[in-house]
Amino acid sequence: MKFFNTLGRSLEEFHSIEPGVVKMYTCGPTLWNSPHIGNYRTFVFEDFLRRYLRYRGYKVVQIMNLTDVDDRIIKTCREENLDYRELTEKYAKEFFDDLEFLNVAPADRYPRATDHIPEMVAIIEGLILKGNAYRGDDDSIYYKIALFPDYGKLSGLVLSELKPGARVRVDDYGKDAAQDFALWKAWDAADGKIFWETTLGRGRPGWHIECSAMSMKYLGEHFDIHTGGVDNIFPHHENEIAQSEAFTGKKFVNYWLHAEWLLVDNQKMAKRLGNFITVKNIRDQGIGGAALRLLFLSGHYRMQQNFTEESLQQASHSLDRLNEFVSRLRSLSSENSLRQENTREIEPLVKQTRDSFVAALDNDLDTPRALSAVYEFVTKSNKIMDSGIHGERGANLLLEFMLKDFNEVFAVIQVKQQTENELPPVARDLLRKREEARRAKNWTEADLLREELLKIGIRVQDTPQGQKWRLEKT
Ligand SMILES: [Zn+2]
Repeated sequence: MKFFNTLGRSLEEFHSIEPGVVKMYTCGPTLWNSPHIGNYRTFVFEDFLRRYLRYRGYKVVQIMNLTDVDDRIIKTCREENLDYRELTEKYAKEFFDDLEFLNVAPADRYPRATDHIPEMVAIIEGLILKGNAYRGDDDSIYYKIALFPDYGKLSGLVLSELKPGARVRVDDYGKDAAQDFALWKAWDAADGKIFWETTLGRGRPGWHIECSAMSMKYLGEHFDIHTGGVDNIFPHHENEIAQSEAFTGKKFVNYWLHAEWLLVDNQKMAKRLGNFITVKNIRDQGIGGAALRLLFLSGHYRMQQNFTEESLQQASHSLDRLNEFVSRLRSLSSENSLRQENTREIEPLVKQTRDSFVAALDNDLDTPRALSAVYEFVTKSNKIMDSGIHGERGANLLLEFMLKDFNEVFAVIQVKQQTENELPPVARDLLRKREEARRAKNWTEADLLREELLKIGIRVQDTPQGQKWRLEKT
């Protein structure tokens, strides 16, 4: 399995530090507004990466932080006269709703910056002791980049033109403004009520130190994967490396993976251009999260992707085709037909598709290539089914690939997740009776009960793993 490592800019074979376990940190949202769909492209990519690592047998520990104090949050609170907790709570709720809509599996933890002030202070004090940080004349604490010879190794920045002593207090700036950056910002009137009294004085943390503190607290000083959008490479991730490595004296992260921009009609999204699209905008159009998710995954994460109305329609259409295919397989795999089995053709098809699917994703998560293998599989399987010579076992093999391989990672197929307990008692009773009839090999009774269940909207199928059921679409 290979990933393109931004650190070193090359495709590298992946090895986890601890065998079988991957520790992964993901920069989460800054809770000051509704993120645009480009941000969610990154979150879906990270979810995909984690699902794929799991599919390949790793246990994954994923931490995603929530930035609930930074320059933009403070500015918004000041302008709208809001308490920062009120503002960040609102956007945190919206964020989790959007993740659910996009079927992003929850991270193991979502630590908040303001719950980790002591951890940040400890790192900053350590950096001061080592001489890597100093107090500026505005009383804020700055990181001295000239003392960290590796500064620039992630972003490819060359430091020759650095102005000695130049400092930047804002969190976000471009490479041309590379200079000593703020670890701790001394309170000023513009911060209002947002400050912490610490051994460093009254103030608040800079954005970059937040992620160093939270990642190291939950994943250790040296861990496997750190992800984000390409806009995080500089200064955010460059600064995280500088802070963490100067503090611990160890390598911080082995693999850095970054997702590219999502453009809208070939332009970067911006409020002033009127092309700023949120997940809510998509939802309000009546489009499902799975279609948007499939759209994101139809492009390679390291390539810029252009979002248009047509591309969304296209993704919706492809999704319908996948869902129809799975639904056809589901009904065929449960029909007690006397059709001739055709595993001779189906087995190699499934194997070949699975091999291409894994080969594509092992190669730096080449989702477009994996998807084209799946679409080809759908076409070929439909042909086999049209010819009527698939058999129940054959249909089950095809279905297994769609649900256990494809959907484990792409997670776009409708899977009703109701548990038996959520069904009405009469339905539970019928299911239990049918299971008994099936075990007793009383097929006439089992078929009658299947009909009964279908009348109340429950379709039952027999699989090698026993009786399975799902709700019929109404
Ligand atoms: Zn971060």
